[in-house]
Amino acid sequence: MIRVLGSLLRSEGRVARRAGLLLAIAFCAALPAGAKNQGGQAAGSPVAGQVSGQAIYTLTQQFLTVAPKRFNGSPGHLAAEQFIKDQFKPEAAKGNFETDAFTASTPAGPQSMRNYIVRYPGKKDGAIVLLTHYETNYPLKDINFVGANDGACTSALLIEIGKYFRAHPPQGYSVWLVFDDGEEAVKEWSDTDSLYGTKHLAAKWQRDGTIEKVKAVLLADMIGDKDLNILEETQSTPWLTDLLRQAAVNTHHTANVFKTEGAEEDDHLPFLKRGVPTIDIIDVDYGPKTQALPDGYHHTAQDTINNISAKSLQVSADLFMEMIRLINQK
Ligand SMILES: [Zn+2]
Repeated sequence: MIRVLGSLLRSEGRVARRAGLLLAIAFCAALPAGAKNQGGQAAGSPVAGQVSGQAIYTLTQQFLTVAPKRFNGSPGHLAAEQFIKDQFKPEAAKGNFETDAFTASTPAGPQSMRNYIVRYPGKKDGAIVLLTHYETNYPLKDINFVGANDGACTSALLIEIGKYFRAHPPQGYSVWLVFDDGEEAVKEWSDTDSLYGTKHLAAKWQRDGTIEKVKAVLLADMIGDKDLNILEETQSTPWLTDLLRQAAVNTHHTANVFKTEGAEEDDHLPFLKRGVPTIDIIDVDYGPKTQALPDGYHHTAQDTINNISAKSLQVSADLFMEMIRLINQK
């Protein structure tokens, strides 16, 4: 990710609003459950454990072994692309794997970038898009930056969710995975030097009408942190924020969400700007902040496999799967 626009501890008023919502959620939970919901999951029963946090962690390790440094133009970037492609051979055989190649104009000159889109067709018209970037920062190419939390573990999260939907095709909306390139700044973060992949894809989807099919975009960023504390990102679409709050209640992960709130510049913005309901599911508070590391482990050589955990990835997987179930119920 990202540039932090500012975050703050929750105010009294927000806590009060949450208490009101909890009442509403308790009421919803008391409603009778149907046999099956649109997501192919039992209605009324939360979906914790469908996707394994340990499997995501192990896959993150494998990804980092194959492609530790994944900045644009590096052999590691090519290895990362191959790693992603290798995961989706069954989808490619069905024509449900798309490479979206483009050339980005960057402060370091033109760079060729690749987004990857994987589609699991559902039964209902429309799609839920899960989104993560997979590359590492070009400006950090000269330090040992591998982005275990920042790009790698969320790529593994989406791959494991994909394996679930390969075995259990969506019964509601289609589920699309997007692995986007060029999220990070090439030189220094600005409106023009950032979010290359999602700006390109959102514009393309607007031109060709695909954007009309997208019911929601769920963005995963930096949510493998051992000390997982998902931010209430204030630009995200309010009904999706409410749904994430409900998902945390349903999966018993309320301790991991919304202790802080703030605005982020991240891959959700190009979709939000086009009116697509989008949420940035992100933990910006990564590692202890010291004089030497004023932003904790973020964008440092400390962003390693040792500072993420299977337990946090389990929480993140549960929240994503429950969000998909709840969106299908809406
Ligand atoms: Zn980053």
